Amino acid sequence: MNATTRIIDAEQQETLTALTDTLTRFSKREIEPHIHAWDEAGEFPRSLYLRAAELGLLGMGYPEHLGGSPATWRMRNTLSQQLSRMGGSGGLLASLFSHNIGLPPVLRYGSEALQQRVIPPVLRGEKIAALAITEPSGGSDVAALRCTAVRDGLDYVINGEKVFITSGMRANYITVAVRTGEAGSKGSGGISMILLPADVAGLSRTRLEKMGWWCSDTAHLRFDNVRVPAANLLGEEGGGFKIIMTNFNGERLAMSAMALGFAQACFDEALDWARQRKTFGNTLMEHQVIRHKLVDMRMRIASAQAWIDSVTARADAGDAGADWVAQVCMLKNHATQTMQFCADQAVQILGAMGFMRGTKSERIYREVKVMMIGGGSEEIMKELAARQLGL
Ligand SMILES: Cc1cc2nc3c(=O)[nH]c(=O)nc-3n(C[C@H](O)[C@H](O)[C@H](O)COP(=O)(O)OP(=O)(O)OC[C@H]3O[C@@H](n4cnc5c(N)ncnc54)[C@H](O)[C@@H]3O)c2cc1C
Repeated sequence: MNATTRIIDAEQQETLTALTDTLTRFSKREIEPHIHAWDEAGEFPRSLYLRAAELGLLGMGYPEHLGGSPATWRMRNTLSQQLSRMGGSGGLLASLFSHNIGLPPVLRYGSEALQQRVIPPVLRGEKIAALAITEPSGGSDVAALRCTAVRDGLDYVINGEKVFITSGMRANYITVAVRTGEAGSKGSGGISMILLPADVAGLSRTRLEKMGWWCSDTAHLRFDNVRVPAANLLGEEGGGFKIIMTNFNGERLAMSAMALGFAQACFDEALDWARQRKTFGNTLMEHQVIRHKLVDMRMRIASAQAWIDSVTARADAGDAGADWVAQVCMLKNHATQTMQFCADQAVQILGAMGFMRGTKSERIYREVKVMMIGGGSEEIMKELAARQLGL
C-alpha cells in the first residue's frame, strides 16, 4: 500500500478521536462563546495561550525535551481544521499558533542553547513567537527582500522594515528574514534568518487595521540599528531562502486545513438556518435551489477533505519531494477556493442575517481573502506548482 492510500491503525484512530474531543470541548467552552466579542475588541486574552498550552495544543509536533509532544501531520491538521470548524476565527488561530511559523526555523537550524532558551517558554504559552518575511516593497518575491543585517563584532545590526506581521505587536521573539553578506548583495543567495528578541532597542511596531482577522494583531515593524547577537543566526549565513521555502510548506498545509474547517463551519451554519427558516410556507430546505446550494458546498468540502488526507498521509510518510510541494500549492488554492465558495453560499442562504455581524458566515466571508493571499498568494501557488511539476 503506498503512502497516499495508507490507512491509520486503531491506536492512531483512538488518539485522533481523543484529540478531536479535546478540541471540541476547548472550542465550545473557551472560544466560541467569546469569539465575536474578541473580534469586535480587536484582541483576545493572553491567558488563552496558557490554556492552549495546558492542553498540549501549542506543543504539538515539537520534541519532548523542549516541552512539546510528537504529533503527526494528521494530528496537527486535525487541530487546525477542528478549531476552525468549531468556532475559532482565522485571526485567533493565526495569532494563537503564530509560533508554528516562527519556531520551526529555530527548531531546525538554531543552536541547542537558543532552542532551550526560546522554545519551551513559547510552548508553555508564556511567550509569543512570530515570523517576519514580508516587506513594504513586496511579499511574493522573497528573493528581493531589502532588510539588511550587517555583521559588527559579535552582533548583527539590522535595518529595514517588515509589514503585515501576525502577532507582530505581542511577539516576544521574531524570526526575521534579512539580507546579509556584501553590501548590495542581491537575490536568494544573500538571505539569512535570524532570531530577534523583541525587547531590543531600535525596534518599533505599529498596529495595522484589517478587513478580517480582527482579534489577531498584525503589525508593521521598523528596525533602526537593531543589534542581535550573531549566535542568533539560524543555519548558515546566506542559507535563509531554503529555510523560508521549507517553512512555507508546513504553513500552507495548515492553512489548507483551516480553510476546509471554515468551509465546514459555513456549511453547518447554512444547514442549520435552512432547516429552521421558513419562506412561502416551507423551510428553506424544502426549496430545491437551497438544497442544491448545500450539495454544491458538500461536494467541494468532500474533495478538499480527500485531497488534504492524501497530501497529509504523504507528509507523514516523509515525502517532501517536488510533486508533494506542488500538491501542497494546488491544495492551498483548492481549499481556500472551497472556503470562498462556501462562505459566499452560506451568506446567501442566511439572507440579511448573513450580512449581520455575529454570524459565523459573515465573519468567515471577511476572512477569505487573507487565506488566498497570506502564506503565498494564489498566483504564486500556481507558479510554484507549475515549476515543481516541470510544466
Ligand atoms: C492578515 C495578514 C497576515 C500576514 N501575516 C504575515 C506574517 O506573519 N509574516 C509575513 O512575513 N507575512 C505575513 N503576511 C504577508 C503575506 O504573506 C503577503 O501578503 C503575501 O506573501 C503577498 O505579498 P504582498 O501582499 O506583498 O503582495 P505582492 O507580492 O505585492 O503581490 C500583489 C499581487 O500580485 C500578485 N503577483 C505578484 N507577483 C506575481 C507574478 N509573478 N505573477 C502573477 N501575479 C503576481 C500576487 O499574487 C498578489 O495578488 C500577512 C498578510 C496578511 C494580509
